[in-house]
This record gives sequence, C-alpha cells and structure tokens, in this order.
Amino acid sequence: MSTPSYDVIVIGAGPAGLTTATEVARSGLKTLCLERLAPGGVLINLTELHDFEEPWPGPDMAARLTDEAAVAGVEMGFGDVNRISGGEPWTIETAEGESHTARLLVVATGLNKGKLGLANEDEFEGRGISHCAACDGPLYAGLPVVVAGAQGWGAVEARELSGVAGDVTLIDTTAVEAPPGVSQLVGRIVGLEGANGLEAITVESEGQRKSIPTSAVFVYVNQSPAAEFLPDSLARDGAGHIVVDAEGRTSVPTVYAVGDVRAGTRPYLTDAVADGERTAKAIVAALKKN
Ligand SMILES: Cc1cc2nc3c(=O)[nH]c(=O)nc-3n(C[C@H](O)[C@H](O)[C@H](O)COP(=O)(O)OP(=O)(O)OC[C@H]3O[C@@H](n4cnc5c(N)ncnc54)[C@H](O)[C@@H]3O)c2cc1C
Repeated sequence: MSTPSYDVIVIGAGPAGLTTATEVARSGLKTLCLERLAPGGVLINLTELHDFEEPWPGPDMAARLTDEAAVAGVEMGFGDVNRISGGEPWTIETAEGESHTARLLVVATGLNKGKLGLANEDEFEGRGISHCAACDGPLYAGLPVVVAGAQGWGAVEARELSGVAGDVTLIDTTAVEAPPGVSQLVGRIVGLEGANGLEAITVESEGQRKSIPTSAVFVYVNQSPAAEFLPDSLARDGAGHIVVDAEGRTSVPTVYAVGDVRAGTRPYLTDAVADGERTAKAIVAALKKN
C-alpha cells in the first residue's frame, strides 16, 4: 500500500477546522486543510462577533486563525470535497477533480445555509433570499425586510439589519423578545412572490394567511449539517449532525468531526475553537501511538 500524502486532512477551514489543523500541525504531523470558499467559514460574513470577550470583526478573526495555521505549517488548499473513500489511508476527492490521501480525516464543514422549504425558493436565492446581513443588508436600505428564524443567530442578524434596511420583521413560530427597532410576527412563511426579485411573502399566522410586501428574507431556519458527501457508515443524530465521542471520534475510528457539523455542540465561535483544540490533542495522541 502506498504511503498517504498527509497524516491528516481537515475538510473545511472555518474556526473549528483551522484550529484543529493548527494544533495538529504544531505537533509535527503533515496536515492539509481544504476549503471550498474562503478560509474563515461563517466568520468572514460577520461585522462583529458577539458573545466574545472583546469586540472583534469576523474577518479579522478569520485572518488571525488563517495566519496561525500558516505559521504552524498547515498546507491550505482550495477544493469542494465531494467524496471520501477507502479508510487508513483515506482518499478524498474534490469537485475540481483533485484527490489527496491521508491517514486520518477531520470533518469541519459546519452548517448549510438556512432553508424555508418552499418550492420556488431557489428562484429567489440572491434575488431577495439572503443569509448574510453584513453582505446584503445595505442593498435593502429603506426597504422592508424579514428575518426568518429568531432562534440561533437570527435575532442578532435582525438587530444588525435594523440599522441598515427599512422596516425589519422577525418571523418565527415561537414568540421571542425582539431586538429594539425590530417588529415580531409569530407564524410561518408559506409563500414567496415576485416577478422581478422578491416583492412579497405569504405568512400563516394564527390560522390566517396574509401577504406582506417584502424586498428580502434573511433565512436562519433549518440549517442542516454540511455532511451530504460523507458515507452512511458515519453515524448521525436525528437532525443529520455527525455523532462523536468525547475525543471527537466518529463511528469510523480514523474520521473525526469538529464544530457545528457535529452533534451536541453549541453554535458559537468559542465552542468551535475549544472543540478543535480538544480534538487535535486526541488526534495527535492517536497518530503518534501508531
Ligand atoms: C449569522 C450568524 C452569526 C453568527 N454570529 C456569531 C457571533 O457573533 N459570535 C459567535 O461566537 N458565533 C457566531 N456565530 C456562530 C459561529 O460563526 C459558528 O458557530 C462557527 O463559525 C462554527 O465554525 P465551524 O468551523 O464549525 O463552521 P463554519 O464556520 O461554518 O465553517 C465551515 C467551513 O467548511 C467549508 N465547507 C463546507 N463543506 C465543504 C466541503 N464539502 N468541502 C470543503 N469545504 C467545505 C465551508 O465553506 C466553511 O468555510 C454566528 C453564526 C451565524 C450563521
């Protein structure tokens, strides 16, 4: 059997993947980190990090984590991983037609964009459907917008939009305390309408349907784990998150998972980083033992 090109390949360069890759590379293991968009994951779209000890713009934190990985000797690669196969060594393949081999894999692919689950939703993607207040909010200055999903980071995104767009309405099936300057509607979006980009939505609320003029919907509901390319042999929970043990190991011993893609984590930067540090220690111990 030929020698694999890397000791460890980390799939996904968000905060969890970058931290894991950095810590593993610091121990002298040859490490590749593959990313399909840009290093930093969700952070690159966040104006300012909340729930953090000091105010940090997301892109600055992304740059810091990426620099640390480079200094530690992590090889950064571009690639949309769409298949893994083999096992000790593993082969990973990308949509761009490249393949790489490694003794051990780390899945750090985070969550997919939110989905309303409506038939014509994809038609409005980028034409009224958005997932990023910092990137797209300014396009809707003075125009009415809606945020779908008050749980998770939806309410924080609504607060950010309230200083940028026109009227902001937060829609969720459960009542929450809406941020200042944001209206709240308890209900569910059941329709999207518009001939030239989004113009209105239909909302079901208290058993009634009503049309609401809206230029954009920022969607933060139903964010599924980005784990579609992984084989069924990796155990998932009911929502599709990858199940891991206390050391981050999945049901396949040489595949680990960190950050938002795994089961039982809190979707916060600090948790993603702590997860990466803890899992890297376990990986180093496992590989240096053999
Ligand atoms: C709108 C919003 C606001 C937030 N605000 C805050 C905040 O203020 N403070 C805070 O602490 N947390 C915040 N969070 C949560 C925090 O950003 C996440 O918990 C954290 O980014 C998770 O890190 P991760 O590395 O697991 O995943 P991600 O950051 O999602 O990174 C995953 C990476 O994997 C890549 N990837 C996915 N699939 C593949 C593939 N097949 N091949 C190659 N690459 C792939 C993705 O492109 C992405 O770069 C926010 C989240 C959202 C959605």
